[in-house]
Amino acid sequence: MPELPEVEITRQSFASRIAGARVTGVRTGKPLRWPLGCEAGSLLDQTIGEVQRRGKYLWLPLERGGLLMHLGMSGSLSFDESAALPPAAAHDHFDLVTTRGGLRLTDPRRFGAVVWSPGLDSGAAAKLLAGLGLEPFDAAFTGAYLHAALRRRRVAVKQALLAGDIVVGAGNIYACEALHLAGIDPRTRSDRLSRPRSERLAQAVRDTLARALALGGSTLRDFKDAHGMAGRFQLQAGVYGREGEACARCGGRIRRTVQGQRSTYFCAGCQRR
Ligand code: ZN
Repeated sequence: MPELPEVEITRQSFASRIAGARVTGVRTGKPLRWPLGCEAGSLLDQTIGEVQRRGKYLWLPLERGGLLMHLGMSGSLSFDESAALPPAAAHDHFDLVTTRGGLRLTDPRRFGAVVWSPGLDSGAAAKLLAGLGLEPFDAAFTGAYLHAALRRRRVAVKQALLAGDIVVGAGNIYACEALHLAGIDPRTRSDRLSRPRSERLAQAVRDTLARALALGGSTLRDFKDAHGMAGRFQLQAGVYGREGEACARCGGRIRRTVQGQRSTYFCAGCQRR
């Protein structure tokens, strides 16, 4: 599943190239997760502004409203600067043709979405974004904020991170890695995490995502598949996918457990409750 770093790298891969382009064609394929929410023809002749990201959503501002896009479980966006997009294949479900090139959503499982909204803070976008927590690189995402938010939860700290309503971006791999970096057992109850450990965790979430972004940025040129980046990040992971191996930091054994039907990897040696 594309995670926040992959979505951000996707944004960076086409945002500057599509800004200022005028929409000249729209092609919709099979239904996606939600309907487009407008007549496709109404998008024509509108100029695209600066593409933004909120959580795992991308926002393409138009002159009248904009398009909120999500990659779902298996989606990827590609931008092709050639005059015409190649013919759509079976899994290409949305094309936005512009004066600067074509943006195409490919999504085999069709959990992705392209939804028109009158604004980012109104209509469909406001509804879809309402439950999102802070951005990890937002100055407001501090240890004090995280500590206060965790104090109101009784679930395991990893579950609180995954929920995405405190901070966005800590998906399964990144939550495991951040907790390892912070030396916190993922099963620790949220409301028992001290203020200093919350500080360490907030920093670890930022550091982990920054590392993933740097990795994606360094491979941006051949970045074609959102899943490829998570795969490369995993090769450098401290605990994720490393059950039974020795922890590089303390030599302890890396274990796997299941929380909320997701695999959690952690080091029993250096991650404490
Ligand atoms: Zn360890």
